[in-house]
Amino acid sequence: MTVSNVIDHTQRDPWSVALEQFDVAADRLHLDPNMRGILRECQRELIVHFPVRMHDGAVKVFTGYRVQHNVSRGPGKGGIRYHPSVTLGEVKALAMWMTWKCAVVGIPYGGAKGGVVCEPKGMSLQQLETMTRRYATEIMLLIGPERDIPAPDVNTNAQTMAWIMDTYSMHHGYTAPAVVTGKPLSIGGSEGRNEATARGAVYTIIEASKHLGIDLEGTRVVVQGFGNAGLHSARLMQELGATIIGLSDTGGGIHNEKGFDIAKVDAFKKEHGTVVGLPGSDRISNSELLELDCDVLIPAAIENQIGEHNAPRIKARIVAEAANGPTSPEADRILFDKGVFLIPDILCNAGGVTVSYFEWVQDLQNLFWREATINARLKEVMVKSFSDVLEMSKKHKCDMRTAAYMVAVHRVAEATLTRGIYP
Ligand code: NAD
Repeated sequence: MTVSNVIDHTQRDPWSVALEQFDVAADRLHLDPNMRGILRECQRELIVHFPVRMHDGAVKVFTGYRVQHNVSRGPGKGGIRYHPSVTLGEVKALAMWMTWKCAVVGIPYGGAKGGVVCEPKGMSLQQLETMTRRYATEIMLLIGPERDIPAPDVNTNAQTMAWIMDTYSMHHGYTAPAVVTGKPLSIGGSEGRNEATARGAVYTIIEASKHLGIDLEGTRVVVQGFGNAGLHSARLMQELGATIIGLSDTGGGIHNEKGFDIAKVDAFKKEHGTVVGLPGSDRISNSELLELDCDVLIPAAIENQIGEHNAPRIKARIVAEAANGPTSPEADRILFDKGVFLIPDILCNAGGVTVSYFEWVQDLQNLFWREATINARLKEVMVKSFSDVLEMSKKHKCDMRTAAYMVAVHRVAEATLTRGIYP
């Protein structure tokens, strides 16, 4: 992922949001207070400070984190983020969200996350490699194919994973592809990983449409963000016959009631660096984009996009959170009262971690699957998970986020309880 300069920390502290979301589900589940106490904390929080020699000869000390929230259901799983405003609180929240995400789609992982406080934009490839290799060495206390498996996140990518995999392998004296996912195909990456998040999100939109009796053919769709999650979501929705009437990126938003040809928008963006200025489109602001009259709104950019200030004006029938954390808890309540059907991030964008799981399984078995097999297995996971969450929301007459948390928290609590308290 390459989201950069986009994390708005003026909004609510992510850890307090994560705890509030957990508490809502825990209340509804009447979770035992002892279990609540366990799950409200992260099991392991590693803070590392490490020196890197920069080009000018100066030594710069970086701070990094690796947090494991709960590993009762399996090894830790979660991305590594490079950003100047990474904090321990943010990494903790992201680790907790990974625990719920893995549990809601039933893959055998616990939640983890990592990050380094840095501005990768100003660093050369060589400096990034050196920093990554040293950070990987520092967090080797925690990571490993059976222990905790990092993946790309904001400003890290397949190359970053290759460096971590190589560093780990050098220290252990043998090649260990399963220590990270999101790797290049040449060293044990998986077919289908690149578009897995969007594909998974689209499977959940198909299920939501069936549930609501909406025909996707001709459905009007708005997508915020035109990166990995946004571009592929828009393309796959178009393939299903939907009309993509609004799109955006950091440059701004574009609108055309007749719909965009996503391949043409992609080509335009590759040439001009933004979707803004596409011939035949009207320029609109980010808030106008989110409030467009449409059937499906796919936030696929960054967190904190739908809050109290704009939730009353959202007109979409379905909001599908391809992005992590785009909606505040206050906005959740407003959208639910308005009858908007929201597919929460931990369910909607879990296709990414699901195919990461497939990558890990392939690496451990040294047996690689065809893309068609991966997509079919992804579909099976997403359809089943959507159905589990929908059933929970019907049973408890609650919104889909609360239901997803209830499914997840119940599964993690059950695993934690079954294993018992050591010693
Ligand atoms: P990306 O960097 O590939 O794309 C992000 C896009 O959002 C870019 O087009 C950028 O221009 C745009 N953007 C940034 N700020 C914006 C703003 N304020 N308004 C409009 N557009 C803006 O990142 P990505 O991998 O597509 O990730 C997007 C979201 O999806 C993130 O929240 C990420 O955590 C989530 N996600 C991604 C994956 C994955 O596998 N890629 C998996 C799970 C969740």
